[in-house]
Amino acid sequence: MNMVGVDQVLEKLSTVIDPDLKKDIVSMGMIKDLELNDGNLKFTLELTTPACPFNAEIEDDVRKAVSQIQGIKNFDMIVTAKVMEGRSLDVDTALATVKNIIGVASGKGGVGKSTVALNLALTLSQSGAKVGLLDADIYGPSIPLMLGIQKANMEFEDNKLQPAESNGLKVVSFGFFADQEHQAAIYRGPIISGILKQFLVDTNWSNLDYLIVDLPPGTGDIPLTLAQTIPITGILVVTTPQEVASNVAVKAIGMFNKLNIPLIGVVENMSYFICPNCNEKHYVFGEGGAKKISEKHNIPFLGEIPLNSGIMEGSDKGKPIMLTNPSSPSAESFRKSAKNIAAQCSILAAKLREEMQAEAVEPTPTS
Ligand code: ADP
Repeated sequence: MNMVGVDQVLEKLSTVIDPDLKKDIVSMGMIKDLELNDGNLKFTLELTTPACPFNAEIEDDVRKAVSQIQGIKNFDMIVTAKVMEGRSLDVDTALATVKNIIGVASGKGGVGKSTVALNLALTLSQSGAKVGLLDADIYGPSIPLMLGIQKANMEFEDNKLQPAESNGLKVVSFGFFADQEHQAAIYRGPIISGILKQFLVDTNWSNLDYLIVDLPPGTGDIPLTLAQTIPITGILVVTTPQEVASNVAVKAIGMFNKLNIPLIGVVENMSYFICPNCNEKHYVFGEGGAKKISEKHNIPFLGEIPLNSGIMEGSDKGKPIMLTNPSSPSAESFRKSAKNIAAQCSILAAKLREEMQAEAVEPTPTS
């Protein structure tokens, strides 16, 4: 009987396609440490993010593919995830240990941008990723309240700010530093930009898979500074179904487009209300606002979050719903959105990797 070879195994495995990246798992380098001895097959499947929506599907497809290879007696697979770098680090010595930076933006205040940023950070962290949260909403930093850490003792080590630790997240907020009620209003453009740069660059974020930056609403200095100071993976836009919110969201989208900053996609908050009596979804503010934006501006629609008193109480009492009620439908909606966001980051990372490879092989012009 012919012995099965590594080539045959790889050929079969390359029929498994990552549904997000639309590439086969072998050419994406997801098969690691492959050993094949006398029909005993062993390898590690390294997924692109622990929060990938298709992790189970890919694992299943791999098992099916292996079962179709003749001559495999035993099969052993370890499944891990290594988040891909979604930002070009070669031009960026600052923050080189942060693989992805996601700016969370909105057209106007009160749409739940901070709530989404925080619960997104917690969800990604719960999936096993290393996550930081920078509250850059300088005029109304709400993350300390939402995490129940009003006053953090910020420490400096080697001239670097040490982030606070909360529920597995590394957190820095303008709210930790100042009596913002009295001070924030007097800050102007250059000072604000300077503070943001310091929070980004002079903080010891250490190794992070995702740094979530909660931006102030609108298109002011902070989003501009973030977009122009360091390479970021992209911007997540939070909106609500109401026309007004959607229209201002479009302005923010326009600004990031002009700056050539990738848009990860749009999440709609307060989309619907689940009736406690009949369990039905009621689209109290109208249906499909964010979906329309996503279609019109060709950016991914990444999820809808219900209007829910548990979400509000969680934010207002410093006990986010992802921690207090992780099995609730609201928490599930955050999880679904976070998976889609992580998947989009992997897609942007794969695109970046391709662009960098194309640049590397480009022939140097001869004179
Ligand atoms: P923004 O950052 O856009 O200003 P916040 O995240 O601070 O908005 O949210 C504004 C208010 O709305 C907060 O009181 C928050 O608890 C509440 N909120 C946010 N999202 C929801 C939701 N899905 N359901 C109920 N209340 C929400």
